[in-house]
Amino acid sequence: MAPVSGGPTESATGAGPDRPCRLTVLGATGSIGSSTLDLVGRNPGLFEVVAVTAQSNVQELAALAKLHRAKAAVIGDATLFKALVDALAGTGITAMAGDAALVESALMPADCVMAAIVGAAGLKPTFAAAGQGRRVALANKECLVSAGDVFTSAIAKSGAELLPVDSEHSAAFQALAGADPKAIDKIVLTASGGPFRTWTRAQLESATPDQALKHPNWSMGAKVTIDSATLMNKGLELIEAFHLFPVGVDALDCVVHPQSIVHCLVSYKDGSVLAQMAPPDMRTPIAVALAWPRRMAAPTDKLDLTRLGSLTFEAPDEARFPALRVAKAAMRRGETAPAVLNAANEIAVAAFLERRLKFLDIASLVEDTIEIAEKQGAVCAATCLDDILAIDALARRLAVAQLSSY
Ligand code: NDP
Repeated sequence: MAPVSGGPTESATGAGPDRPCRLTVLGATGSIGSSTLDLVGRNPGLFEVVAVTAQSNVQELAALAKLHRAKAAVIGDATLFKALVDALAGTGITAMAGDAALVESALMPADCVMAAIVGAAGLKPTFAAAGQGRRVALANKECLVSAGDVFTSAIAKSGAELLPVDSEHSAAFQALAGADPKAIDKIVLTASGGPFRTWTRAQLESATPDQALKHPNWSMGAKVTIDSATLMNKGLELIEAFHLFPVGVDALDCVVHPQSIVHCLVSYKDGSVLAQMAPPDMRTPIAVALAWPRRMAAPTDKLDLTRLGSLTFEAPDEARFPALRVAKAAMRRGETAPAVLNAANEIAVAAFLERRLKFLDIASLVEDTIEIAEKQGAVCAATCLDDILAIDALARRLAVAQLSSY
């Protein structure tokens, strides 16, 4: 079993002695994007950077484009086009701007597209890449969470290869090693538990953005770091796993593992449990996705179990972290419930970061939004990306409208 459909295999990345892999990085200035380009820089000759994109960070984008000799640099915020042109003057790198240009960059000839734009903004460019039948290294969670069936259909139709970058799904992909889904008993994703793992519910009432942004193990963008603190991230990952690995909802589970060394455990019906382990550094799963089916070097710490001493596991507490329960319910409800969940969560996280919503109200706002959407008939089947985008927009409006009541 593999989350890879149809497309070419051994030479898919083009990485190898004959030809470098032509790589586009969507969301190049972000945490995943910069880790990806770090690997590119450390492996001269393996990659040729086609396009790099960002939303507003013009100077960083231009610097990355120059450093990696990209053919094009694309800034999502169209008002920054001139600033990008100025920053790239004399380099021969094409400057592009705006939402349509982001999609265009995903269509440029490439062997692999790293999809690392954060949030629903990543949907259109990532769908564009998927439609090209090329390798998509998927970090953006929203394609699978909000548009799971539509996205996997698009992948199957184009014959693209979908390789997960999220560490837990990369771990599952490696531990599954193409196994027959019927042989699987459970796929168990691990969660670090975030910065509030040991906090009481009373303490969580007054948790601040600064406290939530201090992840104990991982260095990530702000949105996913807050999602880790609420455990919504694990709920989103269960939904991603549901679409990547066809084992069914009841065979998916999660467990808290504070050391973040084991990223996923796959239990087989014969009693074997295969776990993937690595120090918490996203360059490992990124390297797996870029080089698969080969392996490439990543400059991460080497795992020393004797220094670690012990690995511990505990059940997640859904009373203190209700976002996990809300996400699981949306996964079971199916149809567009996860799209509503995701959109409402993006609104809630942004409001929390702006100190307009309390930490525990993130999950409440999301749950209430799903309930209202259900009453309005907006939890329904979706057949195309436009359906998803319409539900996403509606869910955002519903969530924003409720903010004032918290
Ligand atoms: P970051 O916030 O660090 O980076 C996001 C990137 O997307 C930046 O390049 C940013 O540009 C760009 N961007 C932001 N908004 C828009 C927009 N509206 N249109 C186009 N581009 C935009 O995110 P991460 O790298 O942490 O995460 C990327 C994705 O990967 C997310 O979906 C996340 O859930 C997922 N992921 C991340 C992990 C991690 O370790 N970081 C782990 C697993 C999954 P600019 O810099 O200009 O704002």
